Amino acid sequence: MKHNREFAPHYGTPVELAPGLRRLTAQNPGPFTFHGTNTYLIGSRRLLVLDPGPALPDHIEAIAKAADGAKIEAILVSHTHMDHSPGARVLQDKTGASIIGCGPHRAARDLLDNEINPLDSSADKDHLPARQMFDGDLFDAADATVEAIETPGHTANHLCFAITGSDLILSADHVMGWSTSIVAPPDGSMRDYMASIDKMLLRPETRYFPGHGGSISDAKTYVQELKQHRLDREKAILRSISGGERSIIEIVRELYADVDPSLHRAASLSVFAHLEDLVDRKLALAMPDLALDARYRKTG
Ligand SMILES: [Zn+2]
Repeated sequence: MKHNREFAPHYGTPVELAPGLRRLTAQNPGPFTFHGTNTYLIGSRRLLVLDPGPALPDHIEAIAKAADGAKIEAILVSHTHMDHSPGARVLQDKTGASIIGCGPHRAARDLLDNEINPLDSSADKDHLPARQMFDGDLFDAADATVEAIETPGHTANHLCFAITGSDLILSADHVMGWSTSIVAPPDGSMRDYMASIDKMLLRPETRYFPGHGGSISDAKTYVQELKQHRLDREKAILRSISGGERSIIEIVRELYADVDPSLHRAASLSVFAHLEDLVDRKLALAMPDLALDARYRKTG
């Protein structure tokens, strides 16, 4: 599937995207963050700030400067990853605005026996919103209202936000144009992610602004492609385990042969997420039990 990797971050400078919507990119580029985390300023006279990013003093300073005296009504947080939520507390200390949005960090399921959570260091466990938002909840900030859309999958607590009365969704890490989302157990869940993808397809909005990289126009076509991409991968995994037992490493070597081996660890987690879902749906069998180092075969 085709991704759009064209993006100019303009660190420190807000970029106007639509009336009442600006983007400010934090300077935390990396293999999983692309050019850095996008912070969004919603509204004009009174603002909502989505995802202040990591606790980078320069970036928080740039957000305050972009607000230019306008009152920050609330700080929205989409999910509890270190590149999205810790800056919320720094901005709260600086402005007095309260933090709302996703709930505290939680995994999609309990740890398995002897399982070490490979994503532990990316989780922000200090996030505690003054108001947790649930599906369909609205927050009104005078000249803009946002609606929370529960979209678990990348994390269990992930929220997207629609700007009501517009065609726009702030899609955070659920739908990104530059790359597919990381869906890795136990914090993430492929079953939840696929359901959250279907949820986006039922919504009317067609323009998305993600947590990393540029905007997505014709978002519904793109989301349909994302869905097809995951279904194709699922089919390839089932094919790989149809001839006999396979370990995740063996599956990755086969399916990701053309991918840089340094990314094989991330690929293993993605394959694990698919297998967990397939075992759950009784389409695959884990031997002896579900685990990253178990062996898998197709049922029937
Ligand atoms: Zn994330």
